[in-house]
Amino acid sequence: MTTVIILALVISASLAILLSLASVVFHVDEDPRLQDVVDMLPNQNCGLCGNPGCRAMAQAILNEDAKLTQCKPGDQAMREEIKEYLETTPNEEGEFVKVKM
Ligand code: SF4
Repeated sequence: MTTVIILALVISASLAILLSLASVVFHVDEDPRLQDVVDMLPNQNCGLCGNPGCRAMAQAILNEDAKLTQCKPGDQAMREEIKEYLETTPNEEGEFVKVKM
């Protein structure tokens, strides 16, 4: 019984170490504007924009792969807010997003 417990602890500790290493090795820096754009979207996660959710839509907007009008629940005020934000907030390289309406 003691051997099984020790074995379980060793396996758990090994997996924890592997997960910690993986989180460091596979870490991806996220565009800090992504969460801001997500927060400006309606966050209904309805998929009407053709993306699996608002976060994916925000990423598509940042990648210049989506038009703001694709978000059906969003209104003109939302579109103008996102457009103004992205046209005045560069990424870390100083680049701006060309917002498609
Ligand atoms: S249509 Fe708008 S509210 Fe629905 S998932 Fe897309 S971005 Fe979110």
